[in-house]
Amino acid sequence: MNRTDVLVIGAGLAGLAAARALAAAGRSVRVLEARDRVGGRTKGGSTADGQWVELGGQWIGPTQDRMYELVSELGLQTVPTYNTGKTLVKLGGKKSLMGEKKGAIPRLSPIALADLGQGLARFTALSKKVDLDRPWLTPNAPMLDGQTYRSWIRRNLRTAAGRAYFQISCEALFSADPSDISLLHAAFYMKSGVDLETLMAVDRGAQQDRVDGGSVLVSERMAQPLGDAVVLGAAVRRIEHDDAGVRVFTRSGELFEADCVIVTLPPTLAGRLEYSPPLPGWRDQLTQRVPSGSVLKLYLVYETPFWRRQGLNGQVGSDTGPVKVTFDNSPPGYEKGIMLGFMEGNDGREWARRTPDERKQAFIDNLAEYFGEEARHPLEYIEQDWMAEEFSRGCYGAHFTPGVWTAYGQALRDPVGRIHWAGTEYSPIWNGYMEGAVRSGEATAAEVLAGG
Ligand SMILES: Cc1cc2nc3c(=O)[nH]c(=O)nc-3n(C[C@H](O)[C@H](O)[C@H](O)COP(=O)(O)OP(=O)(O)OC[C@H]3O[C@@H](n4cnc5c(N)ncnc54)[C@H](O)[C@@H]3O)c2cc1C
Repeated sequence: MNRTDVLVIGAGLAGLAAARALAAAGRSVRVLEARDRVGGRTKGGSTADGQWVELGGQWIGPTQDRMYELVSELGLQTVPTYNTGKTLVKLGGKKSLMGEKKGAIPRLSPIALADLGQGLARFTALSKKVDLDRPWLTPNAPMLDGQTYRSWIRRNLRTAAGRAYFQISCEALFSADPSDISLLHAAFYMKSGVDLETLMAVDRGAQQDRVDGGSVLVSERMAQPLGDAVVLGAAVRRIEHDDAGVRVFTRSGELFEADCVIVTLPPTLAGRLEYSPPLPGWRDQLTQRVPSGSVLKLYLVYETPFWRRQGLNGQVGSDTGPVKVTFDNSPPGYEKGIMLGFMEGNDGREWARRTPDERKQAFIDNLAEYFGEEARHPLEYIEQDWMAEEFSRGCYGAHFTPGVWTAYGQALRDPVGRIHWAGTEYSPIWNGYMEGAVRSGEATAAEVLAGG
């Protein structure tokens, strides 16, 4: 009864995309999901008055072609991110405004502007050289992988403002500090998502659109036709694999069998499962070295989106936090104002240990600095700590620490016997994003179908 052609572990975007592709090709498939819901790092929530909010991944943008296709195939629509008005930049205690179009730069001193310009040009040139499929074969890979992104920033940017831009964008993209990340990985990641400017932009960038009703609908609609093949509350504990096939045991002792298995957990969580025979040393060591980022996603709901009256689009980039990055997340047509903020990297680590009330107050204080005293009167506060989630243990994705791509990169995607790997961390394109998750799930399904 419990034997299928393929078992998929994890009903996030990668697992469901893989299962959907396998089912379409006529394979019997079962998806084992630890949580009592599908979607993984995408998650739906709502305000007190029933307006949808997204507690995990949310934006899509140009060149994320599979996500746009999928949204349309599943009968869903996108809505644009609110982006009318100026973005507020707060550096060194000084506020300045920035246009909302892609390529806009904050008003800085001529020296800081020149510094930032040359830094961006240098980093883009470096990033362009990365071999996305095999980053370890990038020219000078050992040298690039042997240093942190922070070292590069310190060496290549001279002004406080130039360094702050790179610091804030690193925290926003990786929910990690530049000192955590290999320079090669930073360069790989930026190219994987086109370039740093695209990753940071709303207009023609990674934050351009959202799925109407919430991104979790993509997973829910992919899961629907799979019916009972998606088993919720099935936390996998152990995988046995040999010539006869794979046997997968859940924590509650249920056994599922198949010809092969696709594991779609973030690498670190995949490394926490038991394997028999044990994973090869190089594969296990890889999983010890790719930590997930540290992030809390926060919302404050207001009677109105009052910042719009100030000619602001609600977006902030600040060098002081703990909430350094904000967005107006009110969906079109909603009369109240939904302000989104993140506590990322070192701020996330520090503030996760405080109470929800302390985090709420810190968020309010930051918004009052950015938008004025009206920010002190929210109707509601909502938060999601992704580090505390047993089946994620951090977000947005995993980052490679120095030396890992060059020493262990080759071990990332290769199957181990009948065990295949998928998930956003495995994608050469839009790595870390929902697009990468879908692409990876489909690529691994194709690998299984090809008998690889
Ligand atoms: C706050 C936040 C903001 C983000 N913002 C964006 C964004 O704006 N745009 C974007 O594109 N991406 C964003 N991301 C990233 C995006 O959500 C992820 O890249 C994507 O959802 C990953 O999908 P996945 O299928 O690879 O992994 P996951 O979604 O992590 O799927 C893995 C699944 O495995 C399950 N699982 C774990 N352990 C077990 C076990 N032992 N047994 C069985 N099942 C298990 C998990 O519950 C999960 O469902 C964000 C993420 C977060 C958290």
